[in-house]
Amino acid sequence: MTAPLAPLPRDFSSVDRKERMKLESRGLPMRPPQERIKDFDEAIIRLDEDWAMYEARRCIHCPDPPPCQKACPAGNDISYAMWLIEHGQFLEAASVYRQTSSMPEVCGRICPQERLCEGACVRGKRDSLPVPTGALEAFATHYERRKKGVTIPVGKFTGKKVAIIGAGPAGLACAEQLVRAGHWVTLFDARPAPGGLLIYGIPNFKLPKKVVFDIWDDLLRAGVTFVGNTYIGPRITVDKLFAGGYDAIFLGVGTTVDASLDVPGNDLPGIYKATDFLIRTNVDKDLLPHEMCAPIEVGERVAVIGGGDTSADCLRTALRMGAKQVFCLYRRSEAEMPGGHKDRKMAMEEGAEYHFLTQPVRFIAGPDGRLAQIECVRTELGEPDESGRRSFKVVEGSNFVVSADTAVLAIGYKPDPIISATTPGLETSDGGLFKADEHTGATPRRGVFTGGDVVTGPHLVVTAMVAGRKAAAAIDRYLGW
Ligand SMILES: Cc1cc2nc3c(=O)[nH]c(=O)nc-3n(C[C@H](O)[C@H](O)[C@H](O)COP(=O)(O)OP(=O)(O)OC[C@H]3O[C@@H](n4cnc5c(N)ncnc54)[C@H](O)[C@@H]3O)c2cc1C
Ligand code: SF4
Repeated sequence: MTAPLAPLPRDFSSVDRKERMKLESRGLPMRPPQERIKDFDEAIIRLDEDWAMYEARRCIHCPDPPPCQKACPAGNDISYAMWLIEHGQFLEAASVYRQTSSMPEVCGRICPQERLCEGACVRGKRDSLPVPTGALEAFATHYERRKKGVTIPVGKFTGKKVAIIGAGPAGLACAEQLVRAGHWVTLFDARPAPGGLLIYGIPNFKLPKKVVFDIWDDLLRAGVTFVGNTYIGPRITVDKLFAGGYDAIFLGVGTTVDASLDVPGNDLPGIYKATDFLIRTNVDKDLLPHEMCAPIEVGERVAVIGGGDTSADCLRTALRMGAKQVFCLYRRSEAEMPGGHKDRKMAMEEGAEYHFLTQPVRFIAGPDGRLAQIECVRTELGEPDESGRRSFKVVEGSNFVVSADTAVLAIGYKPDPIISATTPGLETSDGGLFKADEHTGATPRRGVFTGGDVVTGPHLVVTAMVAGRKAAAAIDRYLGW
């Protein structure tokens, strides 16, 4: 596993907090909305060295453990990284992040920081803006890659073989930790390329694919093998992998099945599921499975149904595909939306409209048989349900119709049942998620571990990554090294 760095200089007594509190944030450099919707390039511009040092200097180094670190699912030592960046020690800062994270260059870009590290930052509570810890993480690790590259230290070979099924953030992080420990790792994935939703979901304007391929390159050089286009379950099963000589198996298969909207007309031409829409508009043809190569026809008026991160990504993609009017239909209010605020704000800046308290009840075809209109009803919020989220009810007689020639259903994901159906000894919840020990990812089946979205339900890159690392530590112990 990752070896700890030298003891950290925890004495920040020389820090003049009052002086630092006077430093206003310069904000984040962004491409203007009208420019960025013309292409799929990254919307946020990387901080330069001066900008990064200035923003890091705004950190007041709260007493241990700082709230930002407590709020980071990976437990990154953000305060120490800020200290190093402030002093121009960017490579050292990058290695602080690599202690606790297998993909800081990804998390720095796409964590919903406003709910995590930056949401806990005292600077954000007392004056205008928090320290932009995510952008600084992306800055330091980008600097490291340009100046020196990243090499995973590979442990002495233990003779043990681990199969990882699913090459998303959970599987990649598990692989990274296992090769460090000296195990032989093979990653299997149904898709042609590794990355999971980092490649086959999250668009380039949030996370350039090159960032993921660089991480993949590090793993290849460390000796990890990738077997793509291989759907585990029907023919190659978990049992067959054990019989083939693997000593342990990690299941990082995510939640890959789009939930459906059970209303009349939901199969009309012009209606797409979010995964299909995002993959066919955002991924190069040479990385696409054969059946997904046909281009998508995006019309002039695009409705996206749902309120998560996927919905904001679909809205922003539709704008980049040239749609004239793009709007989101969501059945609760903005406060109940599960998606990150940062993405929604950028979608709004780029021209997406949001219609809250609105639920589609029917898709209506035009004379050509394609989608032409969506019948909706108004909703109103009720009391919070068991999850704490406010329920909603339909306002009787509130039906109305909106014109739309394209609709994208971004209403959630479910797990694919194939692995649980073909693997004796696993336990699942009613929704098909795997049951596992929360600290180790161990399933009831000996030698089989799991983590990521397939355990939590659709969640975050950082939580999937952390689950992959925890499971790797448990697998290492299980293998007896
Ligand atoms: C459009 C979109 C935008 C998002 N934006 C953000 C964001 O901004 N920030 C954030 O933190 N999170 C975001 N998320 C959530 C995040 O992507 C996921 O939480 C994370 O990818 C989960 O990682 P995972 O490894 O568990 O699963 P996944 O990334 O889903 O990877 C699972 C892998 O398993 C493979 N697989 C599945 N079944 C099999 C099988 N039987 N055999 C072989 N391979 C199989 C799949 O092909 C896939 O590659 C977003 C999700 C979506 C869909
Ligand atoms: S991993 Fe995410 S939550 Fe943690 S410091 Fe980085 S951006 Fe913040």
